[in-house]
Amino acid sequence: MFDNLSEKLDKALHVLKGHGQITEINVAETTKEVRRALLDADVNFKIAKEFTNKVKEKALGQNVLTTLQPGQLMVKIVKDELTQLMGGDAEGIDLSGNPSVILMSGLQGSGKTTFSGKLAHYLKTKKTKYPLLVACDVYRPAAIDQLHVVGDQIGVPVYSDKENSDPVAIAKAGIAHAKANGQNVVIIDTAGRLAVDERMMTEISDIRKAVEPQETLFVVDSMTGQDAVNTAKAFNDVLNFDGVILTKLDGDTRGGAAISIRSVVEKPIKFIGTGEKMDALDVFYPDRMADRILG
Ligand code: GDP
Repeated sequence: MFDNLSEKLDKALHVLKGHGQITEINVAETTKEVRRALLDADVNFKIAKEFTNKVKEKALGQNVLTTLQPGQLMVKIVKDELTQLMGGDAEGIDLSGNPSVILMSGLQGSGKTTFSGKLAHYLKTKKTKYPLLVACDVYRPAAIDQLHVVGDQIGVPVYSDKENSDPVAIAKAGIAHAKANGQNVVIIDTAGRLAVDERMMTEISDIRKAVEPQETLFVVDSMTGQDAVNTAKAFNDVLNFDGVILTKLDGDTRGGAAISIRSVVEKPIKFIGTGEKMDALDVFYPDRMADRILG
C-alpha cells in the first residue's frame, strides 16, 4: 500500500537525518520534498501546500523544546499532521436504530455491492448483529444476482424484488421485511452510474428521504485518485453523507484519496476495502494509516 509515497517521504525525511539541528534551510528543503511526494501521490495541490506549511511551522517552533534528533522530530511532526489530516480518531457507525438502516451510495464499479457484503459479514461476526441486505438496483438485474451470491457466501439473507422498478418501494419493503424477521441491520445497496448524473442523485436522495438511514455511506475506488475526491464532493453536496468507504487500497493506489478526502468533504473515512474477499475490510484508523504511509 502506498509504496511509492512511503519511499519518497522516507527519502525526503532522510535529508534531516544527518543534521545536528533544524534550520530554516534544511526544513525548507525537507518540506519541499515532502510536498513533492504528496503531489506525486495525487494529493490535491492546496492540501499539500497547507500541509507542508504547517509542518514547517511546527518544526521550527518545536525545535528548541525537544530532545529529539531533527530527523526524528520531523518524522513525528509529519506523522501527527498526516493523522490529523486523515481525521484524527477512528469513527464507528451508528447502529442505534431498530433496525439500523445503512444506505450505500457511489458510482458503478466503486465496490458498493462488495462492501455491502463485507459490512454485513463484519457486523454479523464482530458485532453479533443480524443483517439483511436489500438490492435496490432496478436497472441491472445482474447487480441483484451479485448481491444474492454475496449473501449466500456469508450466510446473510437478501431482500430483492425483480418485478418492482421503484427503488424507494423496494427499500421500504426491505425494512418491513427485516422488522418482520428479526433482522436488526438493513444494508441497502443502490444503483450506481458511470458518472455523477442528476437522475442518479435524485433517486438516491429519494431513497434516503423515505428510509431515513442512520448512516449514508459513500463508497469510492481509491485507485481513481483526485477523481475520487471530486466525486466525493459531488455526492456530499447533494447527500451530505455520514462517512466514506475507500475501496481497493490493496491495489497499486497512490494514496492521494486517503490523504485528501477527509479535508475536502469534512466527513470521516470509516472503513477501507483491502481485497475482493468478504473479510478484506478494515476499520479506518488515521494514526495507523499514517504509520503505514511513513513505513
Ligand atoms: P459496485 O458496482 O459499486 O457494486 O461494485 P462491485 O462491488 O461490483 O465491485 C466492482 C469490482 O471491484 C469487483 O470486481 C470487486 O470484486 C472489486 N472490488 C471491490 N472492492 C474491492 C477491494 O477492496 N479490493 C479489490 N482488489 N477489489 C475490490
